Amino acid sequence: MKVNVIGGGLAGSEAAYRLLKAGVDVDLYEMRPKKNTEAHTTENLAELVCSNSLKGILPTTPQGTLKCELTILDSLILASAYATQVPAGGALAVDRVKFSRLVEEKLMSFTNFRLIREEVTSLLPYSIIATGPLTSKALADEIVKKTSQENLFFYDAVAPIVTKASLNLDKTFNMNRYGKGSSDYINCPMTKPEYETFYNALLKAERVIIRDFEKGDIFEGCMPIEVMASRGLDTMLFGPLRPVGLYDENGKRAYAVVQLRAEDNYDQLFNLVGFQTNLTFKAQEHVFRLIPALENAEFVRFGVMHRNTYLNSPSVLNKDFSCKWDNTSFFAGQITGVEGYMESALSGILAGINMLRLLQGKKSIMPPELTLSGSLCKYITEKQRKIQPMRCSFELTPSLSQIRSKKERREALSNRAISAMQDFSRELDL
Ligand SMILES: Cc1cc2nc3c(=O)[nH]c(=O)nc-3n(C[C@H](O)[C@H](O)[C@H](O)COP(=O)(O)OP(=O)(O)OC[C@H]3O[C@@H](n4cnc5c(N)ncnc54)[C@H](O)[C@@H]3O)c2cc1C
Repeated sequence: MKVNVIGGGLAGSEAAYRLLKAGVDVDLYEMRPKKNTEAHTTENLAELVCSNSLKGILPTTPQGTLKCELTILDSLILASAYATQVPAGGALAVDRVKFSRLVEEKLMSFTNFRLIREEVTSLLPYSIIATGPLTSKALADEIVKKTSQENLFFYDAVAPIVTKASLNLDKTFNMNRYGKGSSDYINCPMTKPEYETFYNALLKAERVIIRDFEKGDIFEGCMPIEVMASRGLDTMLFGPLRPVGLYDENGKRAYAVVQLRAEDNYDQLFNLVGFQTNLTFKAQEHVFRLIPALENAEFVRFGVMHRNTYLNSPSVLNKDFSCKWDNTSFFAGQITGVEGYMESALSGILAGINMLRLLQGKKSIMPPELTLSGSLCKYITEKQRKIQPMRCSFELTPSLSQIRSKKERREALSNRAISAMQDFSRELDL
């Protein structure tokens, strides 16, 4: 039996890997480079379209616990990320080129794998559709025909990248927040007057005009910096510019701090952490050069806003992410309404697992709600309302009745989730 995987992103790569390992023939359709998306810039499989950070690794954080769960599920994306890691404090950041290359090499090493560089415009049985937030229009139209409802569009935004060589490093200090790990971040401290000048310029700066058909809600987790600023003078001080846990060589804490994180392993390119934006390129140059150390910054990429396409999953997908109109096909990745690199990888693994079980004549299976993975999938497919993309979170799992401190609670929730995933994995043929 052969399975079609549509889309060679994070979810599609994971789904394909799962099936290939089990000996199933996989045709993976990827439309790039013949047809590009608004955000991808290479033809590589599993291209990271924005940040090179796959977020935290501490097990007591939701992202850290999810990584433990993904390790148990033998995630190709996570293993490739660890193998191509770059320094980023408590986060797992990767050299994006090496990362994609490794994922692609791994898939290409299977003789039962075929990579077809074509856009798919119709829905076939025995398919895993993992075409992501930038699903091509032709396929999106086809999905709308099948689901007989509108896809929902809204915006995300990406942050600019500057060269290290163009920074005035005399004004910066290197430190990870609270001194954790090595000093990977370049910190640009601001005085109160500098912050206020920056804030006022940000409010006045010209924004890109949003086309009518693309208007929609902005996801809180990817909010443009100017939108955050418009919520009040201090809002950024509790967000990306928060100074807590950051002290310069003299032990002094600044009024505000902009953090820069390495984009590559060569220590040459840095992104402005949390500076997703919809300002015009000219305005970005003007406003971001008001940040101390960035007076002469050379921008190798400006921030941009982008489209995000996702399904109203509770209406159109079953609990195992198979389609209500064809239970031989599954959706996976961001198009289902999960949000984020690791969450997309997770849903690819689960689609692969359940496609395999379908081929084997077995009932589908999902991780229990005590896991972060299971609770996220439940949330995505069960909530009967207009869904918003969702990341994994301890808050989606059943609460613990005993009163505990936040730290104890997180440790308990994390241990419980990991142990539940271990139990679940014993039911699988990994
Ligand atoms: C601009 C932007 C910035 C983002 N920033 C972040 C971030 O910083 N951190 C984060 O965690 N998440 C971010 N996201 C969300 C991110 O896209 C997802 O987390 C993740 O990439 C989704 O994985 P996926 O496999 O579902 O989709 P993708 O990784 O996008 O893969 C989908 C693939 O399908 C292909 N495709 C589309 N239509 C067709 C078709 N008809 N036929 C064949 N192939 C097709 C595309 O070319 C693409 O390769 C961002 C998204 C965008 C668009």
